[in-house]
Amino acid sequence: MFRGFFRLIFIFIVIYIAYFLFRVYRSLTQPRKKPDPPRRIQGEMVKDDVCNTYIPKEEAIREIRDGREVFFCSEECRRKSRAR
Ligand SMILES: [Zn+2]
Repeated sequence: MFRGFFRLIFIFIVIYIAYFLFRVYRSLTQPRKKPDPPRRIQGEMVKDDVCNTYIPKEEAIREIRDGREVFFCSEECRRKSRAR
């Protein structure tokens, strides 16, 4: 009788420890759900003064005009700019 009761308490303790460990495990694993989001170097946006649109710098057509760097979204805009 006494042993049975003792065993029951032991089972409860085991369950509690298991639950506690589970919580600790979850709290440890959850923040790592997103492991360091890949820091993609977000392309700098540049403005096309011809059509007033913003384009990623690496996709823009670059030109040095009067010592100033100018960007265009397309060859067409570049031509329009030159025509001015
Ligand atoms: Zn443009």
